[in-house]
Amino acid sequence: MCGIIAYTGKQPVLPILLDGLKRLEYRGYDSTGISIVSRKKIKTVKAAGKLNMLESKINGPITGGCGIGHTRWATHGAPTDENAHPHTDPSNRFAIVHNGIIENVDALKKLLGKEAVYSSQTDSEVLAHLLALQPGDLLHAVREVLAMVVGTYGLAVIDQQHPDTIVVARNGSPLILGIGENEMLAASDMSALSRHTNQAVHLDDGEIAKLSPQGFEVIRMDSSVANKEAITLNNQNANYDRGGHPHYLYKEIIDQPDTVQQTLSGRLDDRFSTAHLGGLNLEARDLIGVKRITILGCGSALYAGMAGANMIESLARIPVTAEAAAEFRYRNPVIEQDTLYIVVSQSGETFDTLAALREVRRKGGFVLGIVNSVGSTIAREVDGGIYMHAGPEVSVASTKAYTSMLIAFALLALLLGRSRDVSPQQGSRLIADLKQLPDNIRSVLAMEPEIAKLADKYKKSQSAFFIGRTNGFPIALEGAQKLKEISYIHAEAYPASELKHGPLALVTGKTPCVVVLPNDDLLPKSISSMEEIKARGGPVIALTSAAQTDEDRIDALADDVIRVPDADVLTLSAVMGVALQLFAYHSALSLGRDVDQPRNLAKSVTVE
Ligand code: GLU
Repeated sequence: MCGIIAYTGKQPVLPILLDGLKRLEYRGYDSTGISIVSRKKIKTVKAAGKLNMLESKINGPITGGCGIGHTRWATHGAPTDENAHPHTDPSNRFAIVHNGIIENVDALKKLLGKEAVYSSQTDSEVLAHLLALQPGDLLHAVREVLAMVVGTYGLAVIDQQHPDTIVVARNGSPLILGIGENEMLAASDMSALSRHTNQAVHLDDGEIAKLSPQGFEVIRMDSSVANKEAITLNNQNANYDRGGHPHYLYKEIIDQPDTVQQTLSGRLDDRFSTAHLGGLNLEARDLIGVKRITILGCGSALYAGMAGANMIESLARIPVTAEAAAEFRYRNPVIEQDTLYIVVSQSGETFDTLAALREVRRKGGFVLGIVNSVGSTIAREVDGGIYMHAGPEVSVASTKAYTSMLIAFALLALLLGRSRDVSPQQGSRLIADLKQLPDNIRSVLAMEPEIAKLADKYKKSQSAFFIGRTNGFPIALEGAQKLKEISYIHAEAYPASELKHGPLALVTGKTPCVVVLPNDDLLPKSISSMEEIKARGGPVIALTSAAQTDEDRIDALADDVIRVPDADVLTLSAVMGVALQLFAYHSALSLGRDVDQPRNLAKSVTVE
């Protein structure tokens, strides 16, 4: 959430900032801005709206080799030109970009007195005003200001009196330094750095860095020097390309046979019919000692966790719960030695999930991470984990990362199951099903034309329900989530049994209901739920893995049927999930929505 890019070096900075912002736009896109030290003065341009609004406001080149840029996801103040970052102090000596929330902004404004005049409603601007009051060099001035701040930040500052210096700092919001040849960069995300350098340094919370073309130095809040080691990044440039497709979302959906394969790669152990997960840092003896599992995540990661809970519980017979990370963290949770905690996050930077992870570890719990972004904060702070290897996910709505989360859970369930009651024979069958998954996803992708037709048929709906039982319920949750976030059709998911306890009152001929019908023991009960909806005149879309039979009640009852390949508990959510992703995508498309950057949202939610 919120993108920061900063550069100092020999090259003209403007195109570098604009290119960086393009790559970061998915992290926030309600306004953008840049500041450049140009002929010893700070030149700032900012605009509400997307990056093209900023580009059209920049008339002519702005010379200079040192500058900062920002894409905003507003927390304080509407997305207007004035509230866009960078913010400057009244004398225009400093410019600052900020990601996060300054929680004690009111107290800081009091400190600055009544005469201070602000040009925005943001919490961030106060930092520039405070900076103007600090003596000393930029690095220590920033440190002095941050010592007064309560809240979270990733930030970057430039100073017209030190025209090639940038100071960046981090507390709770990601910030990475990029080391080039006679140039330095900083960004909130690797994606903005990777085309310039493969040498990066992760700042940790409480660290402040001073960058100049010659290099960088890092100090902590107590002024002590932090010796940081550079890491070498994989070149992931190619993955940021839409590959000729109309949207990142579409590319990310159709790439799933490959991304699932990457998640599985090298992790299926045919000899012992189990999974091989090198990064768990748990011995077989530790696995057998696990008495309970608590999964923590937000949004789609939480729904993947709920599906994962079902997989683990049914195969390993360990009680598993999945919970919203922030809720867990704030209820002063009981942390137990024999409970395994698992945090799930695509970006590895999700603030609420990170905070929950820290709470568990502070209390002595052992935490595994299921993370996509290599080297991210969560990946660095967990005790062990499973990388998804799904490649960078750019579209705000998660698709391929969600599916790879499911696969990571499938592998863990197989491993835990095989360390308990799952027989080698059953293990082999589960492995065969996992190996079949890329092809099963291909079969679902081949159904795109008929799913697109369905989406078009129901696109005028004001509201939709998604229902399912046990394994089907997390699928319903994620299906509803996908539809609401990108098409803006109101969608709610319920356990099928809950419908009659309230929501059925809303079912009319105008509220389509997606009924998730896995081919399992509960199929007859799920069909009864479908009957209840039909009896109230509600249109039913049946999503089923049950084979069609001659006297098929599903086909007879449902208005429309999406029939996906049969799959067992480990792969069912992935197979059905892809069908619902296509449904949401085509609903959004036929309504003319901004598929990759839906309103009000942003990716990598680094604020609380
Ligand atoms: N709190 C700041 C604002 O509302 C920063 C938001 C962000 O992280 O983009 O401007």
